[in-house]
Amino acid sequence: MKILSMDERLAKNRFDSDDQNPHIIVDKIACKTCDHRACTYCCPAERYKWDKVNDKLSFDHVGCLECGNCRFVCERLNKSIPGYSWNYPPLGKGIIYREG
Ligand code: SF4
Ligand code: SF4
Repeated sequence: MKILSMDERLAKNRFDSDDQNPHIIVDKIACKTCDHRACTYCCPAERYKWDKVNDKLSFDHVGCLECGNCRFVCERLNKSIPGYSWNYPPLGKGIIYREG
């Protein structure tokens, strides 16, 4: 059985994401002071990655499964401090599951 990449697995669903108004906002510069970077371990869609070359967080809200894990593990997202916010996409937007 072929093991699919994350992009191939995500492509089995459909996403109607608003590029101009991401439903999750993180301050990638401020994230440099984060001492755990738990978001890079908890996201089942691998949306958060630490860019070692530029030493900063890389995040893309497109492909988000709306599970909420990042909101639980990141105290800045959880408390909505300036530069950070987590919301569900507007009704009908975001992920449209095709397989369960
Ligand atoms: S856990 Fe939160 S503060 Fe830490 S790197 Fe991730 S988004 Fe930034
Ligand atoms: S809500 Fe879930 S899928 Fe979306 S970015 Fe956060 S951890 Fe990843």
